[in-house]
Order: sequence, then C-alpha cells, then structure tokens
Amino acid sequence: MEPSSSCNRLRSGRHCEKPMSATILVVEDEPSIQALIEVNLRRAGHAVQLAADAETARRMVREALPDLVLLDWMLPGMSGADFARSLRSEARTRTLPIIMLTARAEERDKIEGLELGADDYVTKPFSPRELVARIKAVLRRHAPQATEDVVEHGGLRLDPVTHRISAGDADVALGPTEFRLLHFLMTHPERVHSRAQLLDQVWGDHVFVEERTVDVHIRRLRAALEAGGHDALVQTVRGSGYRFSAT
Ligand code: CA
Repeated sequence: MEPSSSCNRLRSGRHCEKPMSATILVVEDEPSIQALIEVNLRRAGHAVQLAADAETARRMVREALPDLVLLDWMLPGMSGADFARSLRSEARTRTLPIIMLTARAEERDKIEGLELGADDYVTKPFSPRELVARIKAVLRRHAPQATEDVVEHGGLRLDPVTHRISAGDADVALGPTEFRLLHFLMTHPERVHSRAQLLDQVWGDHVFVEERTVDVHIRRLRAALEAGGHDALVQTVRGSGYRFSAT
C-alpha cells in the first residue's frame, strides 16, 4: 500500500488517496517505541494520545472515545489482551477499532489476538510505514468518519478536505459541529444513533455535554439542509435517537 504522501492530485484526480486525521490512543509502556509510533502517526496527520498502561488508557477512553486503539500486548499491570477483552465486553467500546502490537510472533498468539476481538495485529519490530498503512486500512473499514474520503448520499456531497458540502449545484454552509455531525451520520447511514453515541462520536465527550445539545445541533443541521429539501434525510427515531437515511 502506498502512503498518503504519494498521492498525486493532478494526475490521479478522484482516485487520489487522501490523508486522514484520526485520534489514536497508543497504549505502550516502552518509551522508545511510544516515541517512534507517536512521531510517525503525527506525521501521517493523526492526533495521538499516549498511555503507558491499561488503567490510564481506560480512564482516557472513559472521557472520550478515540477513533482507534493501538494496544501493546505486554503491559505492566493489566495485559493488553485483557484490556482488549474488556473493551469488547462493554457496549460503548464494543466496536472501537483495536490493533494489537506485540513482540510475540507465534501463530497461536496471533490467533488469540484476533479471537479476543482485535481488528488487526502488528508484530514488533515493525516498519512505521507498514503500521501507518495498517491503521489506515482498519480506519477505512471501521471508522469512515475519521478518513478524508468524499462521502455522497441522497444527493448530498461532503468533502472532508475542503470542508465543502454541496446539494446538487448549491453549496450548503454549516458550522463546524454540524459539519462533523453530518459527516458522522453520512458515514454511518441507515443506523440509529442515540444522543449519547453521537456525543461520544462527534463531540468526543459523553460525560460533560448534555444530551439536548445534540438536538440543538440537529435542528441547525436540518435548517441548513432545508433549502435543498435534504433535511428529511436526517430522521428522528422516537425514543431512540437519529438516523441518516437516503432510502
Ligand atoms: Ca510492552
């Protein structure tokens, strides 16, 4: 896989591989490896959070959901494997993308890692370029809102790079929160999201922001989409939350 820096907009046009900016929680106790990962992920455009043990990582996840967890297998205290298992056992973090990082290359460890719910597995020593590519592949599969791919649904087109939204020939002007909200909804269409889930995914905070904040921004989003008749794509599901539906 080519890194995003190989993207040639002039030549390859719409098939250009765009960079991404996801929030990645790195749980790794070895400072030199932590530093190597951090510099490479930042260079690839990601925001990086660092934790040296599972207990710290758990506190960070409780405050705000990252887009992906890069998790070392061997950690002091709770092991990476046990932490992955506990993330998978809770509804809030069940689908949080996890890549396990390990010095153990044996096939049975790899199988165990995938069985406990990791989305991918990278063995140390790894090439930073490969790590970045694997992260990108997992994000594309499991966290499309963290990619910078153009999304099109129901006559709306959203470009995360230029921050432009168009409805047919007309541009739609949105505030930054409404933009992130629409981006998340469009990358997860036809599914019902509760207010708490939207706060977690769009605001990155489900503890300190009130749920009715979501309703306020949904209202603003619909008002902005009304001119082109696209407000009906953002549906209220009574008692449950909101859904983007283009069908
Ligand atoms: Ca370790």
